[in-house]
Amino acid sequence: MSPAGEGPLPTSMRTDRCGTLDAADAGRQVALCGWVARRREHGEHLAFVDLRDRSGVVQCVVDGASELRSEFVVRVTGTVRLRPEGTHNPDLDTGEVEVGDCTVEVLNPAEPPPFPLTDRVDADEVLRLRHRYLDLRRQRMQRNLEVRARVSSALRSAMERHGFLEVETPLLWVPTPEGAREFVIPARLQPGSFYVLPQSPQLAKQLLMVGGLDRYYQMARCLRDEDLRADRQFEFTQLDLEASFVDQGDVLDVVSDAVLDATEAVTSERPEAIPRLSWSDAMERFGSDKPDLRAGPELVELGAVFADTNFRAFAGAPCIKGLRVPGRGDLGRGRLDALTDAAKGLGAKGLVWLRVGDADALESPVAKFLSDEERAGLVTALGAEPGDLVLVVADERRTAQTVLGQLRLDLGRPPVSEGPYRFTWVVDFPLFEGLDGQGRPIPAHHAFTMPHPDDLDRLESDPLSVRSQSYDLVLNGWELGSGSIRVHRADVQARIFATLGIDEAEAEARFGFLLGAFRYGAPPHGGFAVGLDRLVAILAGEDNIREVIAFPKTQSGVDPLTGAPAPVAPRLLADLGVRVLPPRA
Ligand code: ASP
Repeated sequence: MSPAGEGPLPTSMRTDRCGTLDAADAGRQVALCGWVARRREHGEHLAFVDLRDRSGVVQCVVDGASELRSEFVVRVTGTVRLRPEGTHNPDLDTGEVEVGDCTVEVLNPAEPPPFPLTDRVDADEVLRLRHRYLDLRRQRMQRNLEVRARVSSALRSAMERHGFLEVETPLLWVPTPEGAREFVIPARLQPGSFYVLPQSPQLAKQLLMVGGLDRYYQMARCLRDEDLRADRQFEFTQLDLEASFVDQGDVLDVVSDAVLDATEAVTSERPEAIPRLSWSDAMERFGSDKPDLRAGPELVELGAVFADTNFRAFAGAPCIKGLRVPGRGDLGRGRLDALTDAAKGLGAKGLVWLRVGDADALESPVAKFLSDEERAGLVTALGAEPGDLVLVVADERRTAQTVLGQLRLDLGRPPVSEGPYRFTWVVDFPLFEGLDGQGRPIPAHHAFTMPHPDDLDRLESDPLSVRSQSYDLVLNGWELGSGSIRVHRADVQARIFATLGIDEAEAEARFGFLLGAFRYGAPPHGGFAVGLDRLVAILAGEDNIREVIAFPKTQSGVDPLTGAPAPVAPRLLADLGVRVLPPRA
């Protein structure tokens, strides 16, 4: 990535940026502005002052610098010169040069910061967020926000290149039927009524398609009142898009192009074309609908190997799946017992482990129950080698998949942010993810997702077998976003509502405005949303999206800097017609 802080200079106060000076500038008279990052005395009157701005740091040699303290804001004028032989600093982009004969003007003194503004800061997170403006001065944070801007700019360019039009949609909105808990805002002019902050612009963008906008995008702020985690904040940003007269492949192509552009803009390398996995293959091969392709070998079907087994735990099991864990045959009994407990905690009846020894001998409490052919078949099917650990789960198919999928991650997954960048599409999700308490199907995406055309005739007779035209984008095991081709025909929509147990009156009450619009010529359409925060976090090498958001909330949803959320004056509440009840016990 090229250095930060490009763009036109000089301004009235400075000629250059600190981090851009190099040997070619030697002899130039410069004026720099920034913060004192560090001051080291050199003899009685001389000091080395590291001056920092967004672009980086340069060493200034200053006479009589005694009044300069860390984080003072200064303007330095002086002459760039090569550092003497042997004093180069290879850790600094500007390490070959320094600024000499300096005159320093203090633009503003500063109090000492409450924590050191170095890259490796182990200050408490609340303290960092309370003084986020200082935390942001750290090079790591500056770089992260620069990566964010770069990603966002690459995504926008890709959208515009593909003919998408940027349109803003309202923040004061109505509930969106996507399942997340929403933030509600009291309406002062209609006491007792509320706006809802959009969990996504889903309905608005579909209305834009009815409105003939054809190809829409937006860097949309979305709000969801859900528990915060490493990959989730109350508010987040997504590249939201929708297009008319497209099929699934068209949407996947455009989004692929955009995210590969964004990755290339940060890493200078374009990842390979994004593979497409069906949901059922993802579950079979990785035991997850957001597979991390980096996390070692895939799960292997072992039903054929144990078809005639006498081993009771395997005989008659609906599904037998195995996982090879390369080189982990050295795991001790304690660790293996813990893995077995973990497998049971995830719902498996048990876990069989086998260590692969020399000449493919298998060491395991259950090895004696397996025939020679079964032992050899197992090693061959998994491609196991001496020193490997082999794990086997015999259970219901979904349980065997998800349990081994999780153990695969636990044992083989590099940190999410560690390259390489392995994108994958997961397509052909089931339309419904299961049945609710009343035996009704639960939509896996949302109720406006178009069923797979080949499965439409089973919508009423066998709804759980119906695939949808929805798709997820996954990067290194993180879901980066999802989308679908939408239902645009009233007859198909009515059948889906009927399957979900939503009658006409309820559909009208909940989504009447959308269904109404659809009666006036809705084009076939579909779209997608890419989570910007997650994409940026991974590309910036961060495991938590808070590190790539300028002003995030803590895990408990608080902003220690501003104090939000905070009570408001009783008069304000009265204007809104709102009364606050004591907290629920
Ligand atoms: N509205 C969906 C979401 O926010 C994305 C989409 O289907 O376009 O996940």
